[in-house]
Amino acid sequence: MKTTGTDISGHMLPLVEEFYSVQGEGINTGRAAYFVRIGGCDVCCSWCDTKYSWNAELHPMVDIESIAANVAAAGADSVVVTGGEPLMWDMGPLCDLLRSGGTETFLETSGAYPLTGKWDWITLSPKKNSPPLPEILNVANELKVVIQDGTDFEEAEKYSHKVGPGCKLLLQPEWSRYREMISAITEYVKKNPRWRVSLQAHKFMHIP
Ligand code: SF4
Repeated sequence: MKTTGTDISGHMLPLVEEFYSVQGEGINTGRAAYFVRIGGCDVCCSWCDTKYSWNAELHPMVDIESIAANVAAAGADSVVVTGGEPLMWDMGPLCDLLRSGGTETFLETSGAYPLTGKWDWITLSPKKNSPPLPEILNVANELKVVIQDGTDFEEAEKYSHKVGPGCKLLLQPEWSRYREMISAITEYVKKNPRWRVSLQAHKFMHIP
């Protein structure tokens, strides 16, 4: 069911788009996943490639049962909830519903809002405009820092000392600066092997 308006219970969410594809970023690159893009973000990264998601009011409020039904129909065993910034909404009900059906739940967040929902994997991608909350740094499974210029390496190191000991560390070139930054990133990883390179593989594959 689709409708308009607001809902703070987490049972209705502003849905920008949903599609079954392959994870293109981070440690889980290459894994099939159903993507659910939630509307709303006030972090305002200049290079954001999903600016169409920022205004939640432009997107229909969809009940979570519909989303779960579409996940099941696709045959997906995991869902990546992304945005926008999904944590502007209560993710608890959606996670509970998906997990009750045996679906793994993966989150992509800037960490700027309090954590809700139960997650099998949390990807934290901190942004300079809105630093992540300590509670999310503590539980992130992977720290994915977007590298736009040389100063971002310092940011990456700063956050790497705030995440938990098992957190994977990833450096990802900002897509429009790929050619300028990929050499610096690979050299950095060679000198600092606790980091790995993350590419937006889905863009190279021309898939959503
Ligand atoms: Fe875009 Fe994500 Fe930054 Fe929000 S946090 S502006 S969705 S890149």
